Amino acid sequence: DDTVARIAAGEVVERPASAVKELVENSLDADASRVEVDVEEGGTELIRVADDGDGMNDADLRAAVRQHTTSKIAGLEDLEAGVRTLGFRGEALHTIGSVSRMTIRSRPRDADSAGTELVYDGGDVVSVEPAGCPEGTVVEVEDLFYNTPARRKFLKTTATEFAHVNRIVTRYALANPDVAVSLTHDGREVFATTGQGDLQASILAVYGREVASSMIAVEADAETDDLPPGPLESVTGLVSHPETNRSSREYVATYVNGRAVTADAIREGIMSAYDTQLGGDRYPFVALFLEVPGDVVDVNVHPRKREVRFDDDDAVRRQVAAAVESALLEHGL
Ligand code: ADP
Ligand code: MG
Repeated sequence: DDTVARIAAGEVVERPASAVKELVENSLDADASRVEVDVEEGGTELIRVADDGDGMNDADLRAAVRQHTTSKIAGLEDLEAGVRTLGFRGEALHTIGSVSRMTIRSRPRDADSAGTELVYDGGDVVSVEPAGCPEGTVVEVEDLFYNTPARRKFLKTTATEFAHVNRIVTRYALANPDVAVSLTHDGREVFATTGQGDLQASILAVYGREVASSMIAVEADAETDDLPPGPLESVTGLVSHPETNRSSREYVATYVNGRAVTADAIREGIMSAYDTQLGGDRYPFVALFLEVPGDVVDVNVHPRKREVRFDDDDAVRRQVAAAVESALLEHGL
């Protein structure tokens, strides 16, 4: 029934940042070269994600918000299992739209036709009409959890919710230097990358000059460099000079095969490199990209969080530590 479905949706969406993540992923999937994220009140009042990607026509739009999976959640007892197995797979838009008021305007690339606007309210299609709009897609999510008050009550302060949003958008911006990613909060620009730079340029746009100028390149390849034995084929990216480090670990962005993830083994590897060299318990700014053969990672540790575990966590820890250590050593640290 509707109530159970909404509760399930609330469990899956969890907070504004979860919706932002899905919408930004969709824009990147649509080959956007520009993704603009605007939020109000930490995303609780409004989330708007605009892109210049492939776009959708009338039929695409109707299909995009439909519930796709055959497995439905029948009762409260199925809720736990359902949340775990359903996740967002194939129905992020449907799920987000069932706990908000959502408007999507879209127009396919290179189409002669005008665009289409679809209005969705709490899971029902209210209207689908022609609308003038540029190529690409704009998704607006208003009043998140307006129909699931219990979930809305779980939301933290605007500052906290926005911090989560910022962290998500930052992660995608750093991983996609060829896409112009911008973020505004309550009308104020938080950052904007150019989409024509490299990782260093994205770090500059997101974290500013002081941090960017302190970044040290990590470049370790199992073939050509002396990485200890283990599953990682390469470890590349940027880490900050210890002088720049902060007391919060929120600036540690790590990726496995291009996907933003967190993993104890990776974080511990990074930290042990700093400990060995420098002591202290402050966290660096990090954008570190690991490449592994696909079957080594267990991505199912937690479907909603981005936590992964490796078959051989110890080896990964040693490899990451060695890669970061040799980068720090090269800088005389
Ligand atoms: P999934 O991404 O898993 O397919 P979603 O609910 O996130 O499920 O999206 C449903 C579909 O809607 C996508 O497969 C895609 O075809 C379309 N879609 C969603 N967002 C966009 C976008 N920004 N640009 C173009 N197409 C989109
Ligand atoms: Mg999606």
